[in-house]
Amino acid sequence: MHCTHAVNPPIIDRFARQIGNVRISVTDRCNFRCRYCMPEDPPFSPKEEILTFEEIVRLVKVLHSTGISKFRITGGEPTLRKGIEDLVRQIKQVCPAISVSMTTNGMKLNVLAEKLKNAGLNAINISLDSTNEETFNHLIQRNHFQQVMTGIEKALQLGFKTKINAVALKGITDREIERFIDFSMQKNVEVRFIELMPFNGNEHFRDYFISKQEIIDLIRQKEEIRELPKADPNQTSIVYALRNGKARIGFIASVTESFCNTCNRIRITANGTIRPCLHDPLEEPIRFRMRQGISDEQLLTIIRNVINKKWKEHPEFNLLDYKPPLSDRAMMLIGG
Ligand code: SAM
Ligand code: SF4
Repeated sequence: MHCTHAVNPPIIDRFARQIGNVRISVTDRCNFRCRYCMPEDPPFSPKEEILTFEEIVRLVKVLHSTGISKFRITGGEPTLRKGIEDLVRQIKQVCPAISVSMTTNGMKLNVLAEKLKNAGLNAINISLDSTNEETFNHLIQRNHFQQVMTGIEKALQLGFKTKINAVALKGITDREIERFIDFSMQKNVEVRFIELMPFNGNEHFRDYFISKQEIIDLIRQKEEIRELPKADPNQTSIVYALRNGKARIGFIASVTESFCNTCNRIRITANGTIRPCLHDPLEEPIRFRMRQGISDEQLLTIIRNVINKKWKEHPEFNLLDYKPPLSDRAMMLIGG
């Protein structure tokens, strides 16, 4: 099989960060309406403005030619994209050594997990902000708790490398910490708390924010928690072991301990723009250019140019006067 790995020089930004991780949003649609993420009636892109599988695979090939071998499929809700397992299969065909993972709300995993496994998907992150049915359904504004739990079971049964993502929310996470630790232990799965990030249309950020340190302090009041060394220098999470290593809790502390200096990721939005940072509205549209028939070389030049504008770091979110850029998209339109 022809593998295009590293035939072109790596993509390195102005701050010497070598891009190694790409998050591809395959749809802006979602079957949940998580209160911190998506308005009830968001402005979805029309189908013709969404990248086709062929276009996504071309982008993967071009990016892989610079040595990038980690791709994550996200959204919106990626499992809503028809034939998503075919996309995974096609990406794995570019080069079997590419790692393809997915971030999903888990609702459709009961039916899709096996197909995704057969297609070669390497790992799944499943979002679960509460282990309590009523609280969970209140947060997602839908009644899908049971399907998500079944989806998690299915992913674990199939032996997927699985992680659980929980957005840390004051009044929810702090009351459920012990249940999450139990969950990690019982299911032998890492649970990662993500600090709530401010986005446009997310004006309650300060009311619900709870930091990594606050959660750790709450855990320490009850039990021992020990930080584990980072497995990878670009790892965004800090992982802790509890209960003699039988439970693992991670933190993605993008607000209080931002990791911009080692950020090696970029994003491709569902409607075909390259976005160097989740928090910077800077984007380069490439869908039109691809449809106009530009060469792979030209495409790579455009990508390199926008990545060269990747900023050093995002502003401090916990400053009282921080306001997300008003013109910017909500999280689900970027691809989390
Ligand atoms: N729909 C999929 C899911 O929920 O896993 C994938 C897309 S979602 C935008 C990706 C991740 O971003 C989820 O884990 C979600 O909880 C997280 N997320 C969304 N809005 C967020 C916010 N304001 N702050 C922190 N994390 C957020
Ligand atoms: Fe949908 Fe994921 Fe956003 Fe929730 S976090 S609304 S599941 S895209």
